[in-house]
Amino acid sequence: MMIKNSLACLTLSLSLINWTGNDTGTDRIYGGFYTAERISNLRANCDIFEWAGKQRDVVIERAKTWLAKSDEELWAMVPGQKLPRTIDVTFDRLIPGSKFIGCLICGDKIRKFGNYPYDPDCENKPWKLTCPSCMSVFPTNDFEKFYLSAIDEHGLFDPEKGDRSLLFNADHPDPDDPLYKFGVDDGSGYNDQNGRAHRYIGYYTWKYWTWLNDGLEALANGFIYTGDKQYAHKAAILLDRIADVYPDMDWKPYADRGWYHSDGGSMLGKIGGSIWETGVAQQLADSYDKILSGTKGDKELYAFLQQQAEKYELPGIKGSREDFIKNVDKGILYTALEAVLSRQIRGNQGMHQMTVATCAAALNTEPYTTQWLDWLFEPEGGAIPGLMISRTDHDGTSDEGAPGYAFIWGRYMTELARLLGDTTKYNRNNIFRDFPQFVNTYTAAYRMSVLGIATPNIGDAGSTGLVSSQANPDFMARGYSFTRNPDIAVAAYRANGNSAEGLGRDIFSPDPEALGREIRQTGEKAGPRPEGGYLMSGFGLALLESGSGRSGFALADNYGRTKMHAHPDLLNFDLFAFGHWLAPDHGYPEFATKIPSNTEWTGSTISHNLVFVNGQPQKDAWGGHAVFFKQLKGFGAFEIDGQKAYPELKVYSRTMFLIGGSNTGNSDSDAYVVDIFRVAGGNDHVYSFHGPPGTIAITGLNPENQKTGTYAGEQIPKGVWTKDFPVGYSHLYNVKRDQDPPVQFMLDWKAEAGYRGLTEKDDIHLRMHSLSQSQDVALAEGDPPQNKPGNPRKLGYVLMHRYGTDLNSTFVNVIEPYKKFPFIKSIRRLDKVNGPEIAIQIELKDGTIEYVLYNSAGQNSMQLENGISMNGTAGYIKVKDGKVIKGILVNGSALKYGKMNLKSKGVITGKVIKMNRELSGGGWLITDIKLPADGSLNGEQIIVATDSQRDASYTIRNIVRENGQTKVYCGPISFVRDFKGGTIEVRTFTVPKSYDQGYLYDFEEGAQFRITSHKVWTRN
Ligand SMILES: [Zn+2]
Ligand SMILES: [Zn+2]
Repeated sequence: MMIKNSLACLTLSLSLINWTGNDTGTDRIYGGFYTAERISNLRANCDIFEWAGKQRDVVIERAKTWLAKSDEELWAMVPGQKLPRTIDVTFDRLIPGSKFIGCLICGDKIRKFGNYPYDPDCENKPWKLTCPSCMSVFPTNDFEKFYLSAIDEHGLFDPEKGDRSLLFNADHPDPDDPLYKFGVDDGSGYNDQNGRAHRYIGYYTWKYWTWLNDGLEALANGFIYTGDKQYAHKAAILLDRIADVYPDMDWKPYADRGWYHSDGGSMLGKIGGSIWETGVAQQLADSYDKILSGTKGDKELYAFLQQQAEKYELPGIKGSREDFIKNVDKGILYTALEAVLSRQIRGNQGMHQMTVATCAAALNTEPYTTQWLDWLFEPEGGAIPGLMISRTDHDGTSDEGAPGYAFIWGRYMTELARLLGDTTKYNRNNIFRDFPQFVNTYTAAYRMSVLGIATPNIGDAGSTGLVSSQANPDFMARGYSFTRNPDIAVAAYRANGNSAEGLGRDIFSPDPEALGREIRQTGEKAGPRPEGGYLMSGFGLALLESGSGRSGFALADNYGRTKMHAHPDLLNFDLFAFGHWLAPDHGYPEFATKIPSNTEWTGSTISHNLVFVNGQPQKDAWGGHAVFFKQLKGFGAFEIDGQKAYPELKVYSRTMFLIGGSNTGNSDSDAYVVDIFRVAGGNDHVYSFHGPPGTIAITGLNPENQKTGTYAGEQIPKGVWTKDFPVGYSHLYNVKRDQDPPVQFMLDWKAEAGYRGLTEKDDIHLRMHSLSQSQDVALAEGDPPQNKPGNPRKLGYVLMHRYGTDLNSTFVNVIEPYKKFPFIKSIRRLDKVNGPEIAIQIELKDGTIEYVLYNSAGQNSMQLENGISMNGTAGYIKVKDGKVIKGILVNGSALKYGKMNLKSKGVITGKVIKMNRELSGGGWLITDIKLPADGSLNGEQIIVATDSQRDASYTIRNIVRENGQTKVYCGPISFVRDFKGGTIEVRTFTVPKSYDQGYLYDFEEGAQFRITSHKVWTRN
């Protein structure tokens, strides 16, 4: 990596700010990305390959209406600062109480159409929004007439100058009609009888700008695909006009009025909020880059621009290609750069960096392009090295706690790498050379998808019970093109349905199908996805699996970030069975803003399958730490320590088993989960769990209805902000409570028809067998977000409550997903119900008896009355026809029952004596003990003790003997977790201050490590 001293950095930043556009580079023919060679490859490929020809057809079709518009028409289409923008018609940040009031006619009914329910047709129905629920059309006035009456001498809308006599309801033109002013919007919104504004035009204009920018892009594509300069001509008119107005665009005045946009609460932005503006500016710069070569010699264009400038008394000189380039360089590229520096453009990490990179590429003028790109790699600039190290984990995901958000960084860095590599021949910084562990970003989404098909809905991601994979085969193919890493090719092939069809096509390349051929070869050799789960200790996800595809079972336990777009949900789990999520997370909140249903419910701890402690939500944490992890065929188990989420507790730890379901040989096609949640410390513990939406059958409890109120109390109505009661309790309604519950009871959720495509005859259930003592158990209902398509109306919760001083709780539950008929006949706890030892006897309908054993004090022997004994952490015994037929021991020395006498060496422990301290070279460490180099430990986890926030657990890829020592290779990762030298705040993000004072690590040399051991015994 290039490490520059801070003086040089300062100089660079200053020179960036001082660049205000000059004559340098205004004679250039091409933008930086769309070079002569790439454009000519593209056009040739469209003639050679059918798929490329089809792309060209689509491009031509999309640009058709835009190409048909006259120059004057296009020029006049660009609005200025005084045409207001917002992304919500009624949301008001300044008003206390309800932020949303829905549709003027049908109210809340519009909410089920999502966060952005109106989708105007700018081409055919200008200035109108149609409610998708009641089909009412607003505003009621002919806004276009008013708009045209308000165009000032510079060609821009100024509402002050408009003819206000045009502001009336077109269907009620009589001034004495009480509806004369109803639904009328002059741009600032229609105020209803309660004084609440409905900003139809503001919302329309947000969509209008998107449409305009897409139109520009359609024209720009039309040019590079066809070479017809008419497209470039039309695009240039839009670009030049946008460059006129863009410097003055400012979202803040609208934010100050309480209007809503994607500004992350900063109130800053340009056309729109600062977050989405990153994409707006990128799209403008990219279109510019595309069309530049098509504007050469277009005298008519420059004459037109000159004529408009004279007619509308515009500042600056127009009339030549140089003038045009100068105007767009300054009005768009430099303006965007300046807006990034001033935070008017600032998105999730990676987004504004990409804006600068795209502008730098389009500028294609030295020394500025290189300087702008250098800025990206400075601590106080784009801070990419700092973010790569301190905010990215070894799974290639970022510090965001929700899958979609956690992938943003990788996606933008990929775009950046493409720009740096393919375009500018920029070589001072190189993503893949300088940050080798970044390679893992390409497979992260695929690895996160259980059974290769469903990404768990964690944090602000997806929606309630949504089954979909965020793995994008094209993205992986792109990653493979940069790295030639075979793991990526294999993942791309599998995620693409075990095919390379259509993958890796680079239409700009001289041989656009070369990559696809390579991916097919590698993918075919590797074959389909193997069965079984794994640990993603970088992101923080423990996956247990059994079977494969939609008929498989999967348990996903999230133990990553509880901050950023996460929920405070460390150790939350969901269960995938019969093609559905059966203990579903709420997913993306109703609105990503501060309203009770988000902040205090969807984004609360109690709405998750977790133990809620002391009435307090979990704290912000990077993640939990694996204690052990084991996945075998038909048997998986792990324990994750989540104490970082409740630092005041002594223990906050979850141990889970997924047993059965492997579909191998026998009738073993059912699977169940054992959940052991241990909490020590605090005075109030609530184990919260919910199954799929639907009815709950109760066995063994006698709950009494609470007549009014919520879980927060009889006097506390549903949905109110927290005050003197724990967060989330007011969202649990229809409460029933058993004040004297038994240790053992059973709840049976029947997934309702309509839930994510289920029908009545699917008959899918989830049974929970509770096996621990609570002081009271309540059942209640809670609503997931109501504005996401497919979300259920409500979910049924169970809340097992324990209280006292310095509590020590172990919540034990067996969770049984089944179709039509349950397969578990009976369950019994064989232990003393209050010690560290858990022993559960599970009798199946087919007569099989299984024992699941867990001993948190693993060094002590566990002795059961029926003769079972175990020395170890976890065990499993299967008995058929009175005979032991299988036994599994994890991290133990002995497991005995009947004729089985299983012995094992127990957990493997030792010390790390040396490790790779660099970013490159992969994650390797040298151990003080000799480990087998025969491949027997490949795939196992080596769990290194650490005081760091990060989980120092790594999958062993290979073990070799080198110079008489044991070297463990953990794949293309790095143990570096941060830069030394402290932090600074840049654009409101905390990032490392300098890159030249060395690194901090996940763990240190000398640390103890453990490798989970196991032994399987089968009767022969
Ligand atoms: Zn409506
Ligand atoms: Zn959640």
